[in-house]
Amino acid sequence: MRRHLVWLRADLRSLDNTALLAACADASTAVACVYAVTPRQWQRHDVAGVRVDFELRTLHALQERLAALNIPLLMLHTPDFATLPADLAGLCQRLGIDEVHANRQYEVNEIARDEAAGLALGELGIALQLHHDQCAVTPGTLCKGDGTYYSVFTPFKRVWLQRLASAGCAPASSPRRRREAFVASDEIPATVPGFASHVSPATALHWWPAGEDAALERLAAFCSEGLAHYDSARNFPDRDGTSRLSPHLAVGSISPRQCLNAAFGHVARHGESADSAQWIAELGWRDFYKHVLTGWPRVCRHQPFRLETAPLRWRHDDADFQRWCEGRTGFPIVDAAMRQLQATGWMHNRLRMIVAMFLTKDLLIDWRWGERFFMQHLIDGDLAANNGGWQWSASTGNDAAPYFRIFNPVTQGRKFDPDGRFIREHIKELGDFSGDVHEPHGPGGSRPSLLTDYPLPMVDHSAARERTLAAFKDMKAAAEFSGS
Ligand SMILES: Cc1cc2nc3c(=O)[nH]c(=O)nc-3n(C[C@H](O)[C@H](O)[C@H](O)COP(=O)(O)OP(=O)(O)OC[C@H]3O[C@@H](n4cnc5c(N)ncnc54)[C@H](O)[C@@H]3O)c2cc1C
Repeated sequence: MRRHLVWLRADLRSLDNTALLAACADASTAVACVYAVTPRQWQRHDVAGVRVDFELRTLHALQERLAALNIPLLMLHTPDFATLPADLAGLCQRLGIDEVHANRQYEVNEIARDEAAGLALGELGIALQLHHDQCAVTPGTLCKGDGTYYSVFTPFKRVWLQRLASAGCAPASSPRRRREAFVASDEIPATVPGFASHVSPATALHWWPAGEDAALERLAAFCSEGLAHYDSARNFPDRDGTSRLSPHLAVGSISPRQCLNAAFGHVARHGESADSAQWIAELGWRDFYKHVLTGWPRVCRHQPFRLETAPLRWRHDDADFQRWCEGRTGFPIVDAAMRQLQATGWMHNRLRMIVAMFLTKDLLIDWRWGERFFMQHLIDGDLAANNGGWQWSASTGNDAAPYFRIFNPVTQGRKFDPDGRFIREHIKELGDFSGDVHEPHGPGGSRPSLLTDYPLPMVDHSAARERTLAAFKDMKAAAEFSGS
């Protein structure tokens, strides 16, 4: 009897899993899954403890589902991507594996890891079969007429939608049950040393139930209650206006095809609307940033997409950065957002834009510091989307905000949290504050209030704006001077 191994990575589900289905194609093949715990690598990749906790809980749920299919789930403990290929090959040898199947990841270290694993397995005569699964449209397959990659979202989205219409995105089914399991499942650890979650277990369980059943329930609830109001609600952080599926999409307890299929089903039943079009477009952004990462791998290496912005003189001020991290900038919408991240491991999209813009444009601090802090604290940390969001805000990315478009954090707060409900919920110093929560100390901190110990604004927004405009202009002038 042939034995196949499925190497699970960011695809922790039994339904619509391309590698799992390929491994199970022949009903008589025995199949096991393996997941690699690589703490040293996670440390290097700044994986957040809250995300590790979510992955482990997802694996628990998946193990039960797989057990019903007679597919055991094994854990491979190995320090990092350097040690992984030999350890995986050793496991395959011990288990008498004929083929290994895995879904591709598109980040540079993951690609190098897969190449090394392929070689190590190949020496034993075991084939590593890699499948495209992570995106609705395979990265690198949508190119312009001249064969180059799209770097702007709108034209990308147009061809992306055309591809979805022509090729479809129907999710695949579950694999068939195996006759028997050829090895016992391993115990899934409850924690991994060095990756304690900064979010309390009660909050994590309440906000982030794990596993594909939880993901499908969330998707169904969003499609029946949230999707019809998505366009008008999605920018308001005190409303439950977005799907909150990002943790599931990040670990793969749901696939983009399952999400898109549900959205297209909604369109078929209720007709097209700005709401469904916008949500589908958000899933397009997810594919787009994976596509950018495939076309411009330098974004995985801490380099700006727009190389001409590399000389920009970012500030590296630890004390200012710390105030941003802790949510003590004195700008309530920024601080409430940072405290949401600390409390729940997640942040609303509008707020991610506001805090990223504040760090890079009001404080002129290097976007890579913020990118890293996000990865270390987000339950849905994803290199492509996180890097894309940060480079958009810093005006160093493709299709980024122009450098002179600088959000005013007070205006943003007034617009997207008009009653201050979100601010009051997350900033306890302002919980009972009866004055203007958007400027508790008056415009620019001009009338310090004794009614709260909330900090004064740490910068003057107008002056900070001028400083950033000057930094970008200096960079441009220096580039013109040197003729680059
Ligand atoms: C600075 C910054 C950092 C970010 N870091 C991440 C990250 O590490 N991981 C992550 O998944 N998203 C990231 N995003 C994108 C976005 O904020 C989140 O995907 C979104 O807030 C998740 O909430 P939701 O699931 O309710 O989204 P919904 O509004 O319901 O959207 C559905 C799905 O579409 C995808 N999506 C939505 N917006 C974007 C976007 N702008 N870019 C890429 N995909 C998107 C997500 O997978 C999301 O779950 C970042 C955005 C910014 C501005």
